[in-house]
Amino acid sequence: MTTTAHDITYRLEQKRRVQADFPGPKSVALTERRKAVVAAGVASSVPVFVADADGGIIHDVDGNSFIDLGSGIAVTSVGASDPAVVGAVKEAVEHFTHTCFMVTPYEGYVAVAEQLNRLTPGDHEKRTVLFNSGAEAVENAIKVARLATGRDAVVAFDHAYHGRTNLTMALTAKAMPYKTNFGPFAPEVYRMPMSYPFREENPEITGAEAAKRAITMIEKQIGGDQVAAIIIEPIQGEGGFIVPAEGFLPALAAWAKDKGIVFIADEVQSGFCRTGEWFAVNHEGVVPDILTMAKGIAGGMPLSAITGRADLLDAVHPGGLGGTYGGNPVACAAALASIGSMEQYNLNARAKHIEEIALGKLRELASEQPVIGDVRGRGAMLAIELVQAGSKEPNPELTKAVAAACLKEGVIILTCGTYGNVIRLLPPLVISDELLLDGLEVLAAAIKANA
Ligand SMILES: *Cc1c(COP(=O)(O)O)cnc(C)c1O
Repeated sequence: MTTTAHDITYRLEQKRRVQADFPGPKSVALTERRKAVVAAGVASSVPVFVADADGGIIHDVDGNSFIDLGSGIAVTSVGASDPAVVGAVKEAVEHFTHTCFMVTPYEGYVAVAEQLNRLTPGDHEKRTVLFNSGAEAVENAIKVARLATGRDAVVAFDHAYHGRTNLTMALTAKAMPYKTNFGPFAPEVYRMPMSYPFREENPEITGAEAAKRAITMIEKQIGGDQVAAIIIEPIQGEGGFIVPAEGFLPALAAWAKDKGIVFIADEVQSGFCRTGEWFAVNHEGVVPDILTMAKGIAGGMPLSAITGRADLLDAVHPGGLGGTYGGNPVACAAALASIGSMEQYNLNARAKHIEEIALGKLRELASEQPVIGDVRGRGAMLAIELVQAGSKEPNPELTKAVAAACLKEGVIILTCGTYGNVIRLLPPLVISDELLLDGLEVLAAAIKANA
């Protein structure tokens, strides 16, 4: 096995160590306090409270240390306390916490826009706007597309996840827990079939054919000239880490271009080195008209962005885009430092290295375990889909049991998927090989014990 020489030093010892009976007394007490004051609708998957986090390790308030294979949902790719990010935040926050870019602008916002225009695919003229959350970025990408095209309809896909605000709930495909009883939803959203290789009725269907299937439906049900935007996650996140068949994204993007439809890649989860490229669309050379970004962008600080064609973004009248906190100066400083660390540590190479280690282990495991229906993903965005042995019937019970068994051993693992049967791996890209391998062994044992 190869190991990349990476010059990452850790503040906390990178070792898993949990007491058999956690949550400990401090976490239990905090959970009681929480129950009395925090709305039940905000659920947490791990029953301990965090005291510290660094590299691939999370410490709780009772002295347990967990391996983090979730990165706070693909956010802390550079770690949860990357020294460069921490330093940049401290420096920025001592000068000003906020002025509002729409009132008195500051350099950090411009510098982040320069970086995003440089890093996103395509060498066309680009513009960037900064916001706070992924959902807000998605909302604004759609606003821009509708204004620029003068059209209403928006196409989203099966298994999509785009957020929890009203429009982004409408774009999201899964009812429970995201949409049920939260309607009515924003109109003019149309859902089309995704390319989902593992669950295709015809396993031979190519990416281009799957794109044709969606395009024909769009033409018949909406009309290409009525569509403002097609929004798609190049690798679907919450929906199950679904990697569309090769050729699907390029065919859709080419058709959108032909019809004057704005092609929006929602890279909120897949962006910033997560898949071994700056953006997941790069794997197939797709150049979106607009990209939405958040999660990994700023080392854990809340920041999101849209970057896209200058003619689209500059079509919006002055004052038409913005928000009080959008592009907060401290978050901008964190983003610049975080992008710097991604380059310094070469986290794209690191993500590919994680893929090399983990995919090999997962495939080996799948060959022994008929409950593993599929192994997929790119870089450090990897997943296994669990099924009833010998079929494609989803196995959400086993998925829950495996995640719980991993947690019991001190490994934080997230699940996802339309059918709740996908285990997803999203380790911080700075995780050490030793810790990653330890986490994978725990996962393997949990599957063997519960299958
Ligand atoms: C998480 C996510 C969002 C929503 O981001 P928030 O910051 O939670 O609003 C949107 N799109 C994708 C693909 C996501 O993974």
